[in-house]
Amino acid sequence: MAQMVESGSKGDASHADDSGSPPSAARADLHTHTTHSDGALSPYEIVRKAHEAGLSAVSITDHDNVAGLDEAIEWGKSLGIEVITGLELSVTLGDKDVHLLAYFIDHKNQELLDYLTFFRRERLKRAERIVQKLNKMNVPLKLESVLEQAGIGSVGRPHIANALLDDGLTDTYHEAFEKYIGTGGPAFEKKYQLMPAQAFRLISLAGGLSFLAHPGKYTNEVELVELIKNGLDGIEVTHPAHDEKLKSYYRGLVNQYFLLESGGSDFHGGKKNDDHTFGLFTVPMHIVETMRSRLFS
Ligand code: AMP
Ligand code: ZN
Ligand code: FE
Ligand code: FE
Repeated sequence: MAQMVESGSKGDASHADDSGSPPSAARADLHTHTTHSDGALSPYEIVRKAHEAGLSAVSITDHDNVAGLDEAIEWGKSLGIEVITGLELSVTLGDKDVHLLAYFIDHKNQELLDYLTFFRRERLKRAERIVQKLNKMNVPLKLESVLEQAGIGSVGRPHIANALLDDGLTDTYHEAFEKYIGTGGPAFEKKYQLMPAQAFRLISLAGGLSFLAHPGKYTNEVELVELIKNGLDGIEVTHPAHDEKLKSYYRGLVNQYFLLESGGSDFHGGKKNDDHTFGLFTVPMHIVETMRSRLFS
């Protein structure tokens, strides 16, 4: 199958996203979610999709969970796709909830695993608090519905939105956020507050690199410098929320601060309806090699 590149580009060398690589350059999607967090597909299905899209590598970056990695790595070996270990963590920056991506982590690192177990327990307690708030507002959502949505995954607001939708308590997925659980909404509850420095420490303990995920329009340069001082290694430049202008802006910051670049689809599947975008938000493999050489040099 032909290589698929971002945004309908023909993959010509002049395209900004190719960073000077030749047209047939091997590509990687470094941001995907599975049933181990709020994604709809199993690790196997993600790796198979990556294979079908003609990618050379894929990273599974579940929220607060590395449990899908072994399955993905095994299938990666069978299908000839490199699976890069990954993880997405949420940290508190001022009053913002900022996402970090970790790559090349040792996903068996005990300290990391202990923290992730703790975060997932905290997420469960938070889901209970949100359900209680909803019940007080006469929205009869049951915790069981939420847990059913989460399955083996670490429970988050997307599961609550899906439960509200499936139980007929909202008309759409987005309405759940707009009416109830969006940040600052009447049934909103904060997550456990992990500070950036703690997350960077945890990621580097596990031998990984830390990236700022999808900064979009919401992370200013002062905040970025704060993160760099604390140990940030790179920025996710390619992401569905970034247009060409934002990508150029972040690529400029990457160069200015001697950071690394990453990118991916943030694919979730299922109700997020992003199936058609798989394979479109990728980075050339030389970006993966640059990451690897930063780590092992
Ligand atoms: P959590 O980590 O449990 O707070 O869930 C965060 C996730 O909820 C984000 O990654 C989005 O997928 C989703 N989300 C947050 N706010 C909204 C919103 N206003 N509309 C739709 N999805 C949202
Ligand atoms: Zn997610
Ligand atoms: Fe995220
Ligand atoms: Fe994500």
